[in-house]
Amino acid sequence: MSEQYDVIVIGGGPAGYPAAIRAAQLKLKVACIDEWRNADGSHAFGGTCLNAGCIPSKALLESTELLHRAQHEFALHGIKAGPVSVDLAAMQKRRAGIVKTMTGGILALFKAAGVVPIEGHGRLLGGNRVEVSGFDGSRRVLEAKDVVLASGSVPFRLPTVPHDGVRICDSWNALEFAETPKRLGIIGAGVIGLELGSVWRRLGSEVTMIEALDQFLPMADGAVSKEAMRHFKKLGLDVKLGARVQQASVAGDAVDVVYTTSAGEHRLQVDRLVVAVGRRPFTEGLVAPEAGIELDERGFVRVDEHCRTGVPHVYAVGDVVRGPMLAHKGKEEGVMVADLIAGRYGEVNYKVIPSVIYTAPEIAWVGQTEEQVKASGRAYKVGSFPFAASGRARAMEASAGFAKIIASTEDDEILGVHLIGPMAGELIAEAVLAMEYSASAEDLQRTIHAHPTLSEALHEAALAADKRAIDSINR
Ligand code: FAD
Ligand code: NAD
Repeated sequence: MSEQYDVIVIGGGPAGYPAAIRAAQLKLKVACIDEWRNADGSHAFGGTCLNAGCIPSKALLESTELLHRAQHEFALHGIKAGPVSVDLAAMQKRRAGIVKTMTGGILALFKAAGVVPIEGHGRLLGGNRVEVSGFDGSRRVLEAKDVVLASGSVPFRLPTVPHDGVRICDSWNALEFAETPKRLGIIGAGVIGLELGSVWRRLGSEVTMIEALDQFLPMADGAVSKEAMRHFKKLGLDVKLGARVQQASVAGDAVDVVYTTSAGEHRLQVDRLVVAVGRRPFTEGLVAPEAGIELDERGFVRVDEHCRTGVPHVYAVGDVVRGPMLAHKGKEEGVMVADLIAGRYGEVNYKVIPSVIYTAPEIAWVGQTEEQVKASGRAYKVGSFPFAASGRARAMEASAGFAKIIASTEDDEILGVHLIGPMAGELIAEAVLAMEYSASAEDLQRTIHAHPTLSEALHEAALAADKRAIDSINR
């Protein structure tokens, strides 16, 4: 007789573990199987996000942002701190400590909710049976009424840039460097490239980024990407656009990179090279053929808008399915399927998912860019407010960037909000809530914002959309 559960979740990342906890809250008997292995062989729940993604990257971004402020802003505040130096080992120890605390926290949450944690590899067989291969070589088969696939994603590798984890690295390796590389190359000027490039640039690396596209940050609003480029240049990130890597090879202690642009072939030598060209869904060994799960042409598990695969009682959530590869998107999908399994209402509003890039200045947006609204043919108005006109931002010595709101001229509905500036990732929550409630620009205009706060920038941007800004000149 195999072990019986109501729900088995395969994958304990930010999509899988919330699915497990929510299902357990709804009185279902739940197991969550996860195979994450750290470099030292230890297991930890939390997936990419907690172990090698969101959390460690934000720990290092925070540390190095503080360093940058100490070096470049303290004097402006009239603070004499003397020469500032870095203890990278201590910085990395802090990062590792935060990861350990957070991943350990998931086990505590599982215990409190009654989720059974299982370490090992899960494979969906036919008939909603799941085979578990333990790290010790053991095998057993579990059964469940419902199964949730949440196996996540892994970095893309480039065949002509052979990964060795030391000189030619992925983002995980680049979070754990024990020394600051003098010359750092990054292939891909996307979210990972910019966040990790900022970290190592602030720690002293000369950073060269090789980006295939001619356009910088094409997913962001045009005005935001233009402003962002200006600040990244100022920080010293050398971003080469329209640049295609032909090959890279390790030569002694260095990496030789050959890339081409419209101007011809170029050679670059760096001490470390990070490949950050996107991630792919991870489905290796996840489903047996008899399980009947379909993958799409890009390797994602095919699902409908409620994350149902074509097989009854099998769902898939997070990075392994279509949509943005973001932890909060996976979490909402995990919670939705748990609710659906328990017979409750569940829905994810895919139109209102915020994106944040945790650089300085921070970048955040929700909804459509101005370019997308224009292409849709809908009549629109735009309101912007520069942080330079915000008293709080000035007091913080953080007056770069702006808030921008795009609303429909016809019915005033907010279509998109774009921020570049201090705490943009926190400020965007107000815009997300407004859009979730289908708010109009007028709703934001009529909402009282405390003074002096950064959130006033959003208020003023909403006012500016109707040329009634108070604290900036209406154009
Ligand atoms: P994962 O987090 O990848 O978790 C999947 C888990 O399933 C893993 O533990 C894996 O080992 C396990 N698994 C896979 N197959 C099996 C199997 N067959 N059996 C058992 N276990 C299995 N997103 C944000 O929203 N904000 C950020 O700031 C952010 N920063 C990031 C920074 C970096 C450097 C990276 C790489 C990513 C970042 N992301 C960020 C993206 C975020 O990490 C992912 O969107 C998120 O982790 C996806 O969650 P998931 O649960 O779908 O998959
Ligand atoms: P990305 O898609 O953000 O950026 C990859 C970049 O590499 C793109 O600009 C692309 O044009 C470029 N590229 C692709 N192939 C190339 C090539 N051969 N040569 C040069 N450039 C090439 O992907 P990423 O930065 O690897 O991040 C992966 C995922 O992780 C993203 O989907 C992102 O959503 C998620 N993530 C999110 C956060 C966050 O929310 N703050 C942080 C890090 C990662």
